[in-house]
Amino acid sequence: MWSVPDIRFPDRSRETERFADKMSNLYRKLPKVDIYLEREECREWIAVYGRYQVADVIREALQELRMQMRNGIKEEDFSRTIQNLDAEVVRRLRQKKRQRMIPVINATGIILHTNLGRAPLPSEAAGRVAEILGGYSNLEYDLETGRRGERSSHFEDLLCSLTGAEAAVAVNNNAAAVLLMVSALCSGREVLISRGELVEIGGKFRIPEVVAQGGAVLREVGTTNKTHWEDYARAAGDNTAAVLKVHTSNFRIEGFTESVPTDRLKMLGFPVLEDLGSGCLYPLEHYGFRHEPTVREALERGADVVCFSGDKLLGGPQAGILAGKKKYIDIIRCHPLMRAVRPDKCTVAALELTLEMYARCREDEAVERIPVLRMLTEPAGTVRGRAERLLEMLTKRPPFCVEGPIPSLAEPGGGSLPGQQIPSFCVTVGADREERLMELEAYLRKGDHPVVVRIADHHLVIDLRTVREEETGTLAAALDGGMEVCGIKDPAAAAGMPG
Ligand SMILES: *Cc1c(COP(=O)(O)O)cnc(C)c1O
Repeated sequence: MWSVPDIRFPDRSRETERFADKMSNLYRKLPKVDIYLEREECREWIAVYGRYQVADVIREALQELRMQMRNGIKEEDFSRTIQNLDAEVVRRLRQKKRQRMIPVINATGIILHTNLGRAPLPSEAAGRVAEILGGYSNLEYDLETGRRGERSSHFEDLLCSLTGAEAAVAVNNNAAAVLLMVSALCSGREVLISRGELVEIGGKFRIPEVVAQGGAVLREVGTTNKTHWEDYARAAGDNTAAVLKVHTSNFRIEGFTESVPTDRLKMLGFPVLEDLGSGCLYPLEHYGFRHEPTVREALERGADVVCFSGDKLLGGPQAGILAGKKKYIDIIRCHPLMRAVRPDKCTVAALELTLEMYARCREDEAVERIPVLRMLTEPAGTVRGRAERLLEMLTKRPPFCVEGPIPSLAEPGGGSLPGQQIPSFCVTVGADREERLMELEAYLRKGDHPVVVRIADHHLVIDLRTVREEETGTLAAALDGGMEVCGIKDPAAAAGMPG
């Protein structure tokens, strides 16, 4: 028997006695988890979700019901809840499943969407990574000598030939790369940074705090909009360890601005360290973007060490890459913090395979095969074609609700190429009431193949730049289902209604 909590009534009038009787009757009607689990339906769920998870979910649902009973649930509400218990358990199990990692269709038009995992890996790379992870590998084993090897050895030569660096090493992410660089090269001494570059990148990553964490002393130089060479020169002294340049990423100052190029900073006689943020390998102005210094360019201009993300414009796995003069990279490699921020084998494998793609392919091929580069550079006409195919696939299109292809603006995202938008095409859904659109948005998000979209100007917007061709069928099916379930109706039906 499940235990019946002792319900105490200070005033045991007949009314409360009757109530207590009624409640203990209800408690007796609560199903017992073990017995409930023996039913045929549960056997099916257990096969899919496992016994523990099913039992947990039943317990949670019953616990919630007990709370309601303590607050005095009506008898008919109690019966209804018990009748609907199976449906509630299934709902909770499905919800738990959505908490696990599953593929998501990104229809937001934001290419490096940090919450959606930033860069999708090239499919060949993803396949090889799975193969390597399924067994043992030569992660830290030199097959030539049969001795212990180094995990960066797998891609160091690729990085060096792609960027012109003398040496390179990878860590878990670029935030770790900046911290490691400062810790290894500046600890206990001063780092000169322009006041225009003391930025917060997002997710609590703030340059002044990272410098402090690295044990260095921040020496602010110049002003927010203008910093001159003389400002650096005045601040430099015996205790200066290095100059740190930081790409302001998600933030741009326009107008009356000035910063000092690396070749001039070199004249101060200190190492110049540069956090490039995105770190692209190809000049992106060929594709209509503003000039963004490539890693090679930053090194050619004299940076001693640069660091950048693996999963921003590079289009690989989450990683931080440090590249530059061998003298400094060797110090970084040997720093005790290196062991704490070293990349795991998934990262090493995925990074190597992505870099190999850059090394092996002509630029036009690489741009085709590395998803981030493809999405950034795909002609708007091709995106339009995908929007047309999506529209053709919709079979339950309520009249006047779905429109497209409509020109839209996609974004690089992830703090890369700030303020630059990419001409794109979208399909929009309108409805007689805004709540229906919010319902549709939630329906798409909670489906078996979740689709993430945005709502703008009283329309649900599906941007096709970030949707893969092979995803359009799934997307169409989800939309068809959602429009039916959410009762999407002609927006003109709401004519005269405000908004
Ligand atoms: C994104 C970014 C970082 C952090 O990189 P993660 O790989 O996300 O850790 C650091 N610095 C700059 C300038 C960035 O743009």
